[in-house]
Amino acid sequence: DAKSKEPAAKHVKAVIRTRPTADFAANYIKFDSDLKSTHIHIPRGSDGGFINNQQENWDFKFDSILHNASQEKVFDECALGIVKSVMDGYHGTIMAYGQTGAGKTFTMFVEAEFRTGATENYKHRGLIPRAISHIFKEISERPQMAFTARISYLEIYNESIVDLLISSPESAAAAAAAGEFHSDWNLNVVDDKNGMSYVKGLTMQLANNEEEALNLLFEGETNRSIAQHQLNKISTRSRVESTERVISSKLNLVDLAGSERISKTHTQGLSMKEAMYINKSLTFLEQVIIALSDKRRDHIPYRQSKLTNVLRDSLGGNCNTLMIANIWGVKEHIEETISTLRFATRMMCV
Ligand code: ADP
Ligand code: MG
Repeated sequence: DAKSKEPAAKHVKAVIRTRPTADFAANYIKFDSDLKSTHIHIPRGSDGGFINNQQENWDFKFDSILHNASQEKVFDECALGIVKSVMDGYHGTIMAYGQTGAGKTFTMFVEAEFRTGATENYKHRGLIPRAISHIFKEISERPQMAFTARISYLEIYNESIVDLLISSPESAAAAAAAGEFHSDWNLNVVDDKNGMSYVKGLTMQLANNEEEALNLLFEGETNRSIAQHQLNKISTRSRVESTERVISSKLNLVDLAGSERISKTHTQGLSMKEAMYINKSLTFLEQVIIALSDKRRDHIPYRQSKLTNVLRDSLGGNCNTLMIANIWGVKEHIEETISTLRFATRMMCV
């Protein structure tokens, strides 16, 4: 039975996904034919000013590199196994990491213009709608099991956890804009009796079928744009799907903030405070990952930020976790690409 199955020995994986682009810097970024390793070579002095390099070569090895891969391939090859394990009672997390513009949201979500049921749009759907679809397909195929699926949708903004499925986003946004932090806008992560972390007070809406689940997702998106109107910029979002009854498991789907360093952030429309919070939470995530990859450490600094608190079980617990590191392989972003590949490499040591 499901309970006696052990999760895969390696619980954290990292894969690379490239954003398809005509000006992909193939002279500098090469992938081995097995699509597991990448070699970056930038001859000193020939960089055209896009990188200040002391080093000329960088080599990385990953679980897989998805170069110019379709949404379907990304789901089938990387995400499906995790979604299936959630149906068997294990927790799962899939998160997209990378600089702004590298394709995180494209990977996770579904763009507004592709939301119609038109079949030509169907192929653009990202991991979240595909995961939802798979979950309900499996539920219908296992009528002997009583499954309950609940959806939560949250955003971490300036160290506040915002519930995107609350009934009155306008008033919450207005309160936030007025500086009155409504409790819905500042939820906390607490431990349950089994030591699992959860966001206290977060709405968990029942979804009876795929359509209801997608509608909740779009409702959350609408709330997010209302909130964004007031709050400007998103830092993180995640959605949790949980199945309940004898076994209970969670699937976290996370679209992280852009990983680019503050000096490079397009600060237009971003206040210094916002840029600082975004930067800080990713720095704290990095510190947690470094601590976890160093087996001699026993203190892992989860408590430093809301993001690491929310992701605690995904990183250090009994959870199958996948990081999709998105890269934008054009010349002018090679420095960010290297930094993303380095981060994904650390992630694999967790
Ligand atoms: P991010 O969320 O990392 O900032 P986006 O997902 O918004 O990046 O992607 C930036 C742009 O690139 C969008 O217009 C998106 O449609 C496009 N894009 C990203 N990845 C892909 C892909 N794999 N295939 C086609 N278009 C993509
Ligand atoms: Mg995005």
